[in-house]
Amino acid sequence: MQKKIAVLGSTGSIGTQTLDIIAAAPERYRASVLAAGSRVDDLIAQAIRHRPDLAIIAREDLYPQLRDALMPLGIATATGPDALRQAAAADNVDTVVTATVGYSGLEPTIAAIAAGKDIALANKETMVVAGSYINRLLASSRTRIYPVDSEHSAIYQCLKGEDPAKVRRLIITASGGPFRTWSKGAIARATATDALRHPNWSMGAKITIDSATMLNKAFEIIEARWLFDMQPDKISAIVHPQSIIHSMVEFTDGAIKAQLGVPDMRLPIAYALGESVRYEGVSDFCDLLEVGTLTFEQPDEERFPCFGLAKYCLNRGGNTACVVNAANEIAVAAFLNGRITFNDIYTIITSAIERVDFIANPDYNDFVQTNAIARRVASEIVESIN
Ligand code: NDP
Ligand code: MG
Repeated sequence: MQKKIAVLGSTGSIGTQTLDIIAAAPERYRASVLAAGSRVDDLIAQAIRHRPDLAIIAREDLYPQLRDALMPLGIATATGPDALRQAAAADNVDTVVTATVGYSGLEPTIAAIAAGKDIALANKETMVVAGSYINRLLASSRTRIYPVDSEHSAIYQCLKGEDPAKVRRLIITASGGPFRTWSKGAIARATATDALRHPNWSMGAKITIDSATMLNKAFEIIEARWLFDMQPDKISAIVHPQSIIHSMVEFTDGAIKAQLGVPDMRLPIAYALGESVRYEGVSDFCDLLEVGTLTFEQPDEERFPCFGLAKYCLNRGGNTACVVNAANEIAVAAFLNGRITFNDIYTIITSAIERVDFIANPDYNDFVQTNAIARRVASEIVESIN
């Protein structure tokens, strides 16, 4: 049976790779919904090629262009704040790929869970902001979550067939980002161009900056905490500059299982869409002789203080990670626009934590409020820096 897929964030890095996988296996998949933020020309081209039932553009001023282009083809179009939520729960959707960036992933994910849709989860911010809340929703839903983040896909693969009680530790690997070998002084002077030069992965701008600050790795620890229901003291991260080992699981008998492969997101995306079936021709093969050496280093919290925020968020709990995520989104955008320095990103996040009220047991409305307040506070701090 052909699986109907809603690709939320179809014009982005994960979204376009997802569509390539869908297009290569029409007997298995059909893109029934495409949703993008602002790249309307790309979205129109995708809709002409994939013929979804529905195409959504978040930016309302671009909607007439989308509608006029797709109406003659009989493709429905939508915009507005409710569009993603409705699409995620629609009848003509079996699996939702959450590949929008940032907080925008939360609402459609919740809608998909309420409707019992399967989720291929790329948007890690959803689990960072509200992981404990999402797990409560999942407990009474038939939704299954398949991780797309390469580290979490690796852990998911390593845990297959294993007794969860025998897991000693999850070991998340980190490339170390573009500044792995840079001095503190050089990092302080880093520009957006420097930070966007990731050594191993080609990704969207926001996650690439998160990789440079190593907040991405902090987020992945939090994501693993909730995806695998693992206590924080059982999750560690290690720098592995070659990005060949995508993560590992250590067991109580001393065994470590790892998943290796070339750095290529098509593998975890295809594994998630295929519900753990291994299809041929997904990714290039990994020539270990050519790789030659696999090395490991301790993450350096002094040069990358954002990395330490994982522990802080998980200890403090409540709405803390929601504040961190919101402040980071504002700070990263300001850094990309050249308005603040690289180190200001961490300063803005920690100032926002101090200035936004702590909520111990947030419900959905608390996340909405916290996100809005933290964004405002972070924007004020950006202004004051300027
Ligand atoms: P990109 O910036 O490349 O793409 C983001 C996509 O989301 C674009 O299609 C964008 O549309 C769309 N979008 C943004 N806001 C909205 C909105 N409000 N409504 C609808 N669509 C929206 O990001 P990535 O693909 O790199 O990352 C996506 C997610 O996957 C992130 O959460 C990231 O952390 C995660 N991830 C990414 C990896 C990667 O290799 N790229 C690896 C692991 C995780 P438009 O561009 O048209 O504005
Ligand atoms: Mg990752």
